[in-house]
Amino acid sequence: MRTLKPARVLGGASLALLLAGVCAQAFAADRFSTTLKPIRAGQAEVSAIAVTARLEAADGQPLMLQAPIIYPGAWRVADRIQGMSVLDAQGPVPLEAKDDAPQPGGFPYYRRWTPTRAVTYPVTIQYTAAVQPVGDRNGPPFGIRPAAGGVSGLGAGFMVMPQSSQPADLSLTWDLSDLAPGSVAATSYAIGDAKLKGPISTIAQSWYLAGPAGRYPATGEGHGFTGFWLGTSPFDPAKELAYSAKLYAYLAKAFGYLGPEPEYRVFMRFLDTPPVGGGTAQPKSFMLSRASAPFDPKAEGPRETLAHEMIHQWTGGVAAPDGVSSWFSEGLTTFYTALLPMRGGFTTVDAYTTEINRIASGYQGSTAANWTAAKIAEHGFGSEDIRHVPYLRSALYFADIDARVRAKTKGKRKLDDVLAPMFVSREKGVRFDHAAWKAMVVKELGPQAAVEFEDRILEGKPWTPVADAYGPCFTRVAKTYQVEGRAVAGYAWQRVASVPDKTCQRW
Ligand SMILES: [Zn+2]
Repeated sequence: MRTLKPARVLGGASLALLLAGVCAQAFAADRFSTTLKPIRAGQAEVSAIAVTARLEAADGQPLMLQAPIIYPGAWRVADRIQGMSVLDAQGPVPLEAKDDAPQPGGFPYYRRWTPTRAVTYPVTIQYTAAVQPVGDRNGPPFGIRPAAGGVSGLGAGFMVMPQSSQPADLSLTWDLSDLAPGSVAATSYAIGDAKLKGPISTIAQSWYLAGPAGRYPATGEGHGFTGFWLGTSPFDPAKELAYSAKLYAYLAKAFGYLGPEPEYRVFMRFLDTPPVGGGTAQPKSFMLSRASAPFDPKAEGPRETLAHEMIHQWTGGVAAPDGVSSWFSEGLTTFYTALLPMRGGFTTVDAYTTEINRIASGYQGSTAANWTAAKIAEHGFGSEDIRHVPYLRSALYFADIDARVRAKTKGKRKLDDVLAPMFVSREKGVRFDHAAWKAMVVKELGPQAAVEFEDRILEGKPWTPVADAYGPCFTRVAKTYQVEGRAVAGYAWQRVASVPDKTCQRW
């Protein structure tokens, strides 16, 4: 949720958690079936999505429908719901609308509709959701927006949802009859029509894209990595997605523990009008939203962002307070976003040199370099520079641990080996928290490692990584940083010219 720029702000998981709190009432739907019809009404661009949903549940349960008044990056969703009608066996169901009290800080709050009489299930809910208007407030690309005769956005950016947290049979049917022939549709959870079992929030938290979209690979069921795009981009989307697909396969192998290639979808939209948004990850998927631009054969796609978002899928999270937990989720992702593409031959050693120095200077050059993790978390989204300190500080921390584990075991073990059993156990539901992390590093490096974690990561005390934190290819050299006009003594990484690139790539 970046107000924000490309996507590395919030992993999808943390945003999903943030938004999950809104549905507290215990309503159990049995089945929720949705049909989506993007509407062009004779125009070149999509103006709305017509939605027909059928909700089946045991009779006697109170129906409540909701749509966001404010959602990050998609303000006034509820105001764009037009002509809503609810029908049951007795006919039209009269509704009463009530707005939640506004939440400070741009956090989501909702309009809620409740029937003024008892309903008999199933009920049918029909409405038209208008696209987000030109010039609306910028933010994550959650609002539905038109591009190139198609439409895309997040479910929560246009859908009226029953308040239900229980798993239900969910189905999605697309009606593409008002779009150009050959149009396709996809979501975070499927290509085309879909059936699945899960909480209704799965639908709200999914990306949607429909229209005469480009697609990578051009055909197939969409197992593993797939990508879709709408609009004109300066770079070649098919080429960038082909690159990302190869990297994805490499990452799946490098981490290993989630099986050969978990499903993952990348959506890209290139918009002719603002708000353009940025990039945001949701479970199993990522949306990149940019302004449309003429094709430039020299332009490269946002490869680092794509790598970062995909890597999140494997690095996952630690059980810790919101914000504080980013030392692990973002720090480890930043560490591997630099390392793995280089190790796999996807980026050069020169690019890696630039990246590890960006990490070092971003951390040491920040006013928040020595803030506690809790203070940085409280600061929230106030400053991009401050918010990124845990990303960078922890990336260095992981590099330091990696080098020391290798040194101690004479190269037999590295950070990957320290993490691997935890990844597997966490996947099976074993809690991974700060105590578990300290136990892991203490086992490798001795009792001092627990104190170091507290000092360096949670307390933000100054420290210096070992001189060979990035292996034999780099050495630590002194460098002075300017922080708010003050000279601060620090370090940078210098390539050791005598060590060949091949050695670096084997690190
Ligand atoms: Zn991230």
